[in-house]
Amino acid sequence: MYSRCCGSVVYMFHEMFEKNTETWCVMMRCLVSNGYGDEAISFFTRFKREGNKLDGEIFKEIFSAYALTGDVKKGLIQFEAMQKDYGIKPSMEHYNNVTKMLATSGHLDETLSFIEKMPVEPSVDVWETLMNFSRVHGDVELGDRCAELVEKLDDTRLDKVSSAGLVANVNYKYNRTKDIDTSRPETDMIYEMLESLQLQMLEMGYVPSTREWRNERVEKENKQEWTFGYKEEVAVVKKLLDSRPRSSVTVISNFRICQDSHDALKLMSEITGRQLIKRDSKKFHQFGKGICSCKLVS
Ligand SMILES: [Zn+2]
Repeated sequence: MYSRCCGSVVYMFHEMFEKNTETWCVMMRCLVSNGYGDEAISFFTRFKREGNKLDGEIFKEIFSAYALTGDVKKGLIQFEAMQKDYGIKPSMEHYNNVTKMLATSGHLDETLSFIEKMPVEPSVDVWETLMNFSRVHGDVELGDRCAELVEKLDDTRLDKVSSAGLVANVNYKYNRTKDIDTSRPETDMIYEMLESLQLQMLEMGYVPSTREWRNERVEKENKQEWTFGYKEEVAVVKKLLDSRPRSSVTVISNFRICQDSHDALKLMSEITGRQLIKRDSKKFHQFGKGICSCKLVS
């Protein structure tokens, strides 16, 4: 049911004699990091059912779980309940997590409305979250507006986003099956954005033929192609974040682009509203508005 790594953590969790809220939080975080959103929600339900006291920390995990499943309505209900039923005053981290939950699934208007209704001044993190997801979802205008606010609040932040440290490891997803590193929030952001794009692409009819993103099939057949294909998309997301809004991005590799990635990049160009240029071992592919300039592979 679970990936090997997650399975070990679940096993250890069940074997533990004493569990505290932190243990439950770690468990939920592990599940979310491995793509098991529904399972993380089940753990949250079980945590409540067993009579444990809910605190602000475990709510942070549930928002991440709902961000993954895309069930933002239920996530918002939990946000309400956190305040009304449990008397927990939201911290800026809670606001940022809810922002992320809404924006991940492309609910950009709702996200903006949520931020504007915040009873406290939104932090630069909150605006940065919306800025990044606006760009990914192709709302460059909103992305620009957020960028202005981010710059105003912390002018070093945009440089930081553009820095090479944003995503160092294009093999992140592959490595996650073996070694979870939850101390890398920037990489998490890339992964979340890719997940979000993936959900939209699936809604648009995209059928990944050689790999399954959400399930851990890396240990099965097509390992090479799976990891190679995934790298293409990770590289594009990194470039999207690394560049100015509306600009085109170029990704270069020494391998010929596979059909799967070719289909994926066409859709990514449509969703983001950006021109994506891919140079592989054979030629340039110029993706824009859902089509590619090449005639051969498309
Ligand atoms: Zn092409």
